[in-house]
Amino acid sequence: MDLNDSPKRGVKRKYAGDRHKLMGSDRSAPTRALGPATNAQGLSIAHDGTSETEDDGRKTNDEYYKNLYATEPDFSVLGTRDPDFAALLERDSHLDFTDPAAVMQLTKTLLKLDFGLQIELPADRLCPPVPNRHNYILWLKDLLDSSSPDLDVYADADANHPSGEIEPEDCRQVAGLDIGTGASVIYPLLGCVQRSSWSFIGTDVDSRSLSYARQNVTLNNLQSRIRIIGTRKTTDPLIPIGEHDIEALDFVMVNPPFYESEAELLELGRQKSRPPSSACTGAPVEMVCRGGEVGFVRRMVEESLVLREKVQWYTSMLGKQSSLEVLVDILRDHGITNYAVTAFVQGNKTRRWALGWSFGNRRPSLSSSRGFEPLGGKKLLPHPTETTVALWPLLKKKREQLERTICDTMESLDLASWTWDGRSSRGVGFVCGNVWSRAYRRKKARAQMDTDPTTSETTENHPSSLQLISPKQDIRQCPFGFSITLQISRNAMNIEDKIAVVARWLQGHDYTLFESFTGMLRNSARPEKA
Ligand code: SAH
Repeated sequence: MDLNDSPKRGVKRKYAGDRHKLMGSDRSAPTRALGPATNAQGLSIAHDGTSETEDDGRKTNDEYYKNLYATEPDFSVLGTRDPDFAALLERDSHLDFTDPAAVMQLTKTLLKLDFGLQIELPADRLCPPVPNRHNYILWLKDLLDSSSPDLDVYADADANHPSGEIEPEDCRQVAGLDIGTGASVIYPLLGCVQRSSWSFIGTDVDSRSLSYARQNVTLNNLQSRIRIIGTRKTTDPLIPIGEHDIEALDFVMVNPPFYESEAELLELGRQKSRPPSSACTGAPVEMVCRGGEVGFVRRMVEESLVLREKVQWYTSMLGKQSSLEVLVDILRDHGITNYAVTAFVQGNKTRRWALGWSFGNRRPSLSSSRGFEPLGGKKLLPHPTETTVALWPLLKKKREQLERTICDTMESLDLASWTWDGRSSRGVGFVCGNVWSRAYRRKKARAQMDTDPTTSETTENHPSSLQLISPKQDIRQCPFGFSITLQISRNAMNIEDKIAVVARWLQGHDYTLFESFTGMLRNSARPEKA
């Protein structure tokens, strides 16, 4: 049988999704589709930093941004491309990081050359290091893409839409909130340039920052996609859902004030044996808040416990791993297991951490949820969402055999939905409970005997669990969703040599279901069976 032609394993179709969010009047403004690696004005930014029109030289957007700071920027090259930067370079292309003007120019130059953005910054407010802020946006993209509720995996179970492949970036309208957006409004700017379907609300409590933030939005002509809202420090909620026409959000992000007091800020500065590596132009309102970053994020957790699924991902950057540890404990105390942690590293310099949590049932990728190896072990990490259940040398016919084994196994189970896409060697399934357990299979066999007129066994009352398996189930509510992918890897000679069966936990709150499912899969994909 040619699996690609099998009607049950049909063809891919894009599911438009049905979630509608309202962010006030700005949301109704048409969002202009920008091409890959385009700046806010719609010009694409070539890798060498020169602008091209959108139709020439389309680059793959996400790849371009992902690799942008894989190596540290070369200051002598930046100097040749930006005279304002060249003017601040010292001998041997050295930049004096203790000079606030030089640090500010580096930020402006990177934003201009790499993103096509312009900003004006006051001298007495924080000057954001671009690679670090960019890392947060890259992580959010991974987190949101890999847990999108709008993917076609959610197509009707009986409408025969398979696959669940990650869609191109622009298909999903995403609305985010940046708490404490600062004078630079850097996160909304970076997010809007990279994703034409994203829009932002940026809040702040500092009137000086707010006025610069509004100016910077206008400077980049992004008024239709970024709203700046002033809030009050202690009396307003951090996440103002229900106010300002905000009904729901895809994510919340924040780079919170790290320190508990000005004294802590000064003390930590003094403790450093070396002088600070960069001039810090932050004002106390930016750097200090009650309870420091843990206090700030704890407040977010409390608000999230009320708002729950009105926001898909609540996230924060953190300055210390110890804060991450405290906050993960707080999440676990509240029974929140769907969370993600990562670390942002620039070269071998400053390390920052990030935490995200969700009340939704979509599970994020392994790379976004367990993105680093914490000092002190893995106990901080959430459950893994991906596992390789089998790995073999790629022999002739192995792929077809495996496809058949996987599909036969899945089709023999009472799944609410199962679709296989032969082109991507990927299947997606949803199920209403553990239908592969021995107990369930025994009950099912008994029920079949009862309904078989050729047997004369007495009828028992069967538990209702047998009735929950119906193809009409709303798969969004299924307690377990998964994908199974056949991945072929290449050896050092670039020859395909291994094939792996990889299971991904897509949906649900119960890790034991994923664990037992992968156990069953491992067993059925054993070499003698496959
Ligand atoms: N997002 C910017 C600025 C971060 S500094 C960046 O990453 O560079 C922290 C910001 O949070 C400051 O602008 C400060 O004014 C703001 N802030 C402090 N308390 C706040 C609160 N309760 N609500 C909103 N913003 C707050």
